[in-house]
Amino acid sequence: MDLMTKLENAKKVLDYARGLEKVFAVKLIETRDIVVDERVRFQCSHSGCREYGKRLMCPPYVPEVDDFKKVLSNYIMGILISVKGSSEDVFRLAGLLHEAVYSTEKKAFSMGFPFAAGLIGGPCSLCEKCPTGENAKCIKREKARPSMEAMGIDVIKTCKKVGMEIEFKEGEVTWTGLVLLD
Ligand code: SF4
Repeated sequence: MDLMTKLENAKKVLDYARGLEKVFAVKLIETRDIVVDERVRFQCSHSGCREYGKRLMCPPYVPEVDDFKKVLSNYIMGILISVKGSSEDVFRLAGLLHEAVYSTEKKAFSMGFPFAAGLIGGPCSLCEKCPTGENAKCIKREKARPSMEAMGIDVIKTCKKVGMEIEFKEGEVTWTGLVLLD
C-alpha cells in the first residue's frame, strides 16, 4: 500500500474507532510523537502497583522497553483512543477501552494494516485471576494486550504533545490506548 492509501485507510479506521462505545476522543498521530521513557516502566515495579508480576500482560512478563522502542521504530503512525466516564465505572470503562483497542486493531488489519498492534491502558483484566508463574500461559491470548504504560510510553506527555490533553477531574476517569498501524 502506498503512503497516500495508507493515510486514507487510517482515517477510515479512525472513524470506526470514534463510533465505539464510550470513546470520547481519537487521534491519528505520528509515532515520532510517542514519548517512551524508561521511568514509566520503572514505576510499574517501584511505585507499588498491585498488579506488577500478577498479570501476564504486565511487567516483568512483557518485552523490555528497548525492545519495544525497536519495534516502534518500524511504525510511522498510530491511533490514540480514549474512553471517559464516571470513576464509579472505572473497571467497566477499562474493559470498554480494551474492546475498543482490540476491535480497532482488527478493523485496521482488515483495512490492509497487517502489523496493526493494540496497546490498552492499565493491566489486562480480561480474566478475574491471571495464571502467572514460571510456565503460566495466557488464557485469552487472542485478545489479551499489554498496556501503553507497560511498554514505557508516557501516556500523559504523548497525549499533550498531540493536543489530546487528559484532564483530571474528580469523579471522572479516562483510559487511553493506542493502535499502531502498518
Ligand atoms: S487474558 Fe487473562 S490470562 Fe491473559 S493476561 Fe489477561 S488476565 Fe491474564
